[in-house]
Amino acid sequence: MTETARTDFYAVDELLTPEEIDVRDRVADWCAKEVTPRINDYWERAEFPFELVPAFAQLGIAGGTIQGYGSPGMSAVAAGLVAAELARADGSIGTFNGVHSFLAMQSIALLGSEEQRERFLPEMARMEKIGAFGLTEPRHGSDAVALETRARRDGDSFVLDGQKKWIGNGSIADYVLIWARDEEGQVGGYVVEKGTPGFTARVMTGKTALRAVWQAEITLDGARVPAENKLANCRSFKDVSTILDRTRYTVAWRALGVAMASYELALAHCLSREQFGQPIAGYQLVQEKLATMLAEITNMQLMCWRLSSLADAGRMTAAMASLAKRHCCATARQIVADARDLFGGDGILLEHHIARHHADIEAIYTFEGTDHVQALIVGREITGLSAISGRRR
Ligand SMILES: Cc1cc2nc3c(=O)[nH]c(=O)nc-3n(C[C@H](O)[C@H](O)[C@H](O)COP(=O)(O)OP(=O)(O)OC[C@H]3O[C@@H](n4cnc5c(N)ncnc54)[C@H](O)[C@@H]3O)c2cc1C
Repeated sequence: MTETARTDFYAVDELLTPEEIDVRDRVADWCAKEVTPRINDYWERAEFPFELVPAFAQLGIAGGTIQGYGSPGMSAVAAGLVAAELARADGSIGTFNGVHSFLAMQSIALLGSEEQRERFLPEMARMEKIGAFGLTEPRHGSDAVALETRARRDGDSFVLDGQKKWIGNGSIADYVLIWARDEEGQVGGYVVEKGTPGFTARVMTGKTALRAVWQAEITLDGARVPAENKLANCRSFKDVSTILDRTRYTVAWRALGVAMASYELALAHCLSREQFGQPIAGYQLVQEKLATMLAEITNMQLMCWRLSSLADAGRMTAAMASLAKRHCCATARQIVADARDLFGGDGILLEHHIARHHADIEAIYTFEGTDHVQALIVGREITGLSAISGRRR
């Protein structure tokens, strides 16, 4: 990507380290060469681009901020920049990485024993094994705390029964982390390995967003998991929430990536598309839209950079991450809608890329906690009153 193609109105790049710029640019170059030219076809056919995985692995970004175990141990700023670049190219690729590198690998890194980290993470960092994170259930999304999947101890194993929905990579993953409640009612994480009898995953079809990455509906019917696959340091649902809190900031960056792509696509289109004898970029109403987009993007860049900097300093709270996830997803949603409008009819044709981003932002807006749920997390922090369950706690 050329310097001028980058949207950096306030020279935010000057806040970044050379290492952060380097990894961002490597990912951006790879996306420009390998992802953007191919992804529309995969999106249209609702197929996952398996052919991209080996080169993706070579980027050496899997595991993001995890130190050791073959992961790059990058800063949270670098991890955010990478997340933004992937999403800038394509939301599905960004989601694939978000599930594998963040939800799945971070859970093992933060809640696994040393033995479990050694056993699972290095091959996941090399992407020889792919991870998934199975929390949501058909009856429990925002109230995932009420999950019904059960884990029963039986000798040296746990036997899992239940259902999961929307599990990214769930049908292709080698390690599917299933969150389930044990006989004492405590929530734990169980790594279910590919091919485990009693585990079935059906790819969800009919999606209108993120069509180039697969989510699965999973059925666990007496799926037997060795006791050593239960994450050693997960004591309750609070630990699951901690994982979500620590990965959520990357979703804010992903929304920023989608917004930047949309603005850049719209700007280029407005400069080349002529109506009434001149480029539509020359009309005041169009410039007002572009200026608003740029202001919002600059605002998001600074917000995301500061949030990640606080994460790097160990000072990011759950509410801080929620504030950014909510703000960036809602803002990006508006920017993409405006950009699509500026394309006129071409805005609903996949070949111009904006239609894909327009559809994909809907899923990004919803997953890892909806707009309402993020508002309620922030609301609880600033008022001291929880409105999440409808009852004050
Ligand atoms: C593309 C995609 C990928 C996903 N990947 C994964 C994955 O890999 N692993 C995984 O475990 N899950 C995954 N999810 C699930 C995702 O996290 C949930 O969809 C999300 O948390 C919302 O849950 P829900 O869809 O059940 O909606 P619901 O919880 O039913 O929400 C519906 C509406 O009700 C509102 N609402 C709910 N509760 C409240 C409340 N207390 N106050 C006010 N409003 C409320 C919501 O804000 C929303 O507007 C994915 C989802 C999608 C769409």
